Amino acid sequence: MTQLPIVAIIGRPNVGKSTFVNRLARTQDAIVDDQPGITRDRLYKPAFWQDREFFVVDTGGLVFDDDTEFLPHIREQVMVALAEAHAVIFVVDGQTGATALDEAIASWLRQQSVPVFLAVNKCESPEKGIIQAADFWEVSLGEPFPVSGIHGSGTGELLDALISYLPTQTTLPETQEINVAIVGRPNVGKSSLLNAITGTTRSIVSPISGTTRDAIDLVVERQGQPYRLIDTAGIRRKKNVAYGPEFFSINRAFKAIRRADVVLLLLDATEGITTQDLKLAGRISDDGCAAVLVVNKWDAIEKDSHTIYQYERYLKDRLYFLDWAETIFVSALTGKRVEKILDLAEAAATQHRRRVSTSVINEVLQEAVTWYSPPTNRQGRQGRIYYGTQVSSKPPTIALFVNDPKRFNDGYRRYIDRQFRQGLGFNGTPLRILWRGKKKGDFESSNMNRATQV
Ligand code: GDP
Ligand code: GDP
Repeated sequence: MTQLPIVAIIGRPNVGKSTFVNRLARTQDAIVDDQPGITRDRLYKPAFWQDREFFVVDTGGLVFDDDTEFLPHIREQVMVALAEAHAVIFVVDGQTGATALDEAIASWLRQQSVPVFLAVNKCESPEKGIIQAADFWEVSLGEPFPVSGIHGSGTGELLDALISYLPTQTTLPETQEINVAIVGRPNVGKSSLLNAITGTTRSIVSPISGTTRDAIDLVVERQGQPYRLIDTAGIRRKKNVAYGPEFFSINRAFKAIRRADVVLLLLDATEGITTQDLKLAGRISDDGCAAVLVVNKWDAIEKDSHTIYQYERYLKDRLYFLDWAETIFVSALTGKRVEKILDLAEAAATQHRRRVSTSVINEVLQEAVTWYSPPTNRQGRQGRIYYGTQVSSKPPTIALFVNDPKRFNDGYRRYIDRQFRQGLGFNGTPLRILWRGKKKGDFESSNMNRATQV
């Protein structure tokens, strides 16, 4: 998907935001959504000025329908819009002058890093317009542009200034190094696997030697993609004299997981899942890393055509909180399927840093609530989801703005989680969902896949 720059239109109600957006947008479709709710996709409008294209998003449509206190919610919209915007147009009403709410929004905007353009709307009067706009110097957001959404005057000057701040083209993400940790309990085959992997790849940075206690990373390249194998010294350290060969430094493994985008969790096919495996898996889930389950020593077990499926089912059962992870059956000894491991790691890393547009998220949400409405509590109050937006990646995190998080029980949360998985994929990475209520501080995170106790 090509991603155009996004310009967020922010301002208190009735200043003329939607009129202004209509003027900027190429299409004249109704932008004001009579049913504020989760259909936020209708608020994104393609627009252009000179040779530059961008999206305008009218945050005004995000005002909750039973709003009583505006400020916290406006701030919330601003936050959501700002998270993805490249520039903000702050619209105020030149005929009424700066209100307390304008001041509050302005002081908040001043603390943000995104460029802000101050559009003083309703300044169509040739005499009064400039004076009305000049009054807004006091909000300290730079030059106030006198504009009129209805008549179109002044918008050209504002847009000239604005487009110089938009990214010129969607810069393709350069090939980023993927941080990969290889973890597993002693004797599962970590150092054998490390050798097998480095045998199939080109090592572009030789390991930096240091004391044996240093974490040493090894950067390898496969099909143009660099991978940083984290703490390869730790993997090889078991022969260290200071500890017995069976010594398992879980803290060292935890440190490697913390630095990883993707964790290769090595499991031993000849043995079942142990407490140590569960401990590592739990940490992967808690840290929000992408993961690949690598079942090693597959050469050493007797198998028929069912074995792989049975083993897979067994894994999903025991490691249910990593049920989003792909599984691969390998042999570090014979090299079987070893070269596929990094491909899976790359796919998982791509999903881990993926961003999904707000409109797509709300399409999935709308489908989900249509099939199965949110629960109603004993007092007859129903849960309502207003809209959702991806607030961060690594791991992908979606905030759902709802009336009251307490009205959504675990069953419903799991359902929404499944719907997102079905609709959006995200294979190989955990997905976090934040349930955000209307009350300040009413914020719950749910990670349904979390390892509860291991
Ligand atoms: P929003 O709530 O900020 O989206 O505001 P609207 O776009 O719905 O406009 C609110 C009111 O202001 C409407 O009655 C518009 O007709 C009026 N309005 C919008 N732009 C202008 C303008 O440039 N000049 C004048 N005089 N009125 C405007
Ligand atoms: P580490 O402690 O996790 O680094 O494990 P090692 O790589 O040192 O391997 C432990 C033992 O398992 C060694 O005896 C290896 O030869 C053996 N091993 C490793 N990978 C495989 C495999 O794919 N198949 C079989 N049969 N043995 C393996």
